[in-house]
Amino acid sequence: HNHIDHATVDKVQAAIAANDTHAHVPEYQTYAAYIADGGYRVLSELRDGGDWEAVQDKLLSSGLRGLGGAGFPSGKKWGFVRANPGPRYLAVNGDEGEPGTFKDRFYLERTPHLMLEGMLIAAWAVEADTCFIYMRDEYPAVLEILRREIAALEDAGIVAPGYIDLRRGAGAYICGEESAMIESIEGKRGIPRHRPPFVAQVGIFDRPTLVHNVETLLWVARVCREGPEVLHRNELNGRKGLRSYSVSGRVANPGVYLLEAGSTITDVIGAAGGMADGHVFKAYQPGGPSSGLLPATMNDIPLDFDTLQPHGTFIGSAAVVVLSDQDSARSAALNMLRFFEDESCGQCTPCRVGCEKAVKLMQADHWDQPLLTELCTAMSDASICGLGQAAPNPIKLVMQHFSDEI
Ligand code: SF4
Repeated sequence: HNHIDHATVDKVQAAIAANDTHAHVPEYQTYAAYIADGGYRVLSELRDGGDWEAVQDKLLSSGLRGLGGAGFPSGKKWGFVRANPGPRYLAVNGDEGEPGTFKDRFYLERTPHLMLEGMLIAAWAVEADTCFIYMRDEYPAVLEILRREIAALEDAGIVAPGYIDLRRGAGAYICGEESAMIESIEGKRGIPRHRPPFVAQVGIFDRPTLVHNVETLLWVARVCREGPEVLHRNELNGRKGLRSYSVSGRVANPGVYLLEAGSTITDVIGAAGGMADGHVFKAYQPGGPSSGLLPATMNDIPLDFDTLQPHGTFIGSAAVVVLSDQDSARSAALNMLRFFEDESCGQCTPCRVGCEKAVKLMQADHWDQPLLTELCTAMSDASICGLGQAAPNPIKLVMQHFSDEI
């Protein structure tokens, strides 16, 4: 907050006022190219008398799990939403705000219709009245692509005008939490709701709502088109399937890499061209800042759902950040907590006050470990949502693995 560049802000605001976001729109697969490639054939077959439970079975046997971070089996979600009486809604969570995560942007800037077809298949399955796409506003090119391609779908008669409602997120990390996103879609301040009831029962405007992440929907389309095997074929270290890793930090070629779900950090760094010149691998964030940091010595764990839990962390949205001998684990953890302090919605005390207190304690020359441990417990046990519950992870993992720095 101390470094606001007012000249840039003025320029951006003027551009928005002039309805000109200067989005550099990359080459991507347009509606015409997607159709030429057999696109929307599956959707039209399904709409023409398909059996939603057969599609759900395909999803279940593919093992597809939510790729926004929570990893809930996608087919099961459809069942929960269908179990509640209509009208129902669908929402696409495109508020990719997890630091280090950029896979959804990567895919939408290349193959937007895979997501859109997956969305329409899911909407057909749960008989959704409207599809809301909640899109991160910091992705101007994606917004421009979606505007153009939704218009193309309307022109082609694949959807009625207004059936897809594109909404712009206003930059709050917490609006990526599904119930906060729903509050925001309803026009309210984006703060997480208490659960139960779950959004599958009481979602947008209190109606049953199916929420999927962007990449999840892309796989829905692929599973329907190519069969469940598309997520079975690859096997590594006892794990099946594929993961899109967003890789950044001290690697030679940061980017999105689609690798086997059983990949270890060694494989991921290898895919990203190895370490950047002059850097020695020291630590890594396996899945967003709430996953904390693991030391380079723990380099043989498959980076997949469930495999990291025994080590006090998780894969989340697979945002891998690689640190080197030139980085400090303690500073990285402090930076993560500063982020949570900024982004806490402030609704509950353990998170609002806990993040602020943690930042103060982590700035001391020597960390008061007993006090930090107590604080971590209170935050994990008593916070309403995942932000406050997982914010202590970086603190706990640095105390465990990088004690020489604190
Ligand atoms: Fe808000 Fe934090 Fe509580 Fe979540 S844990 S509801 S972000 S204050």
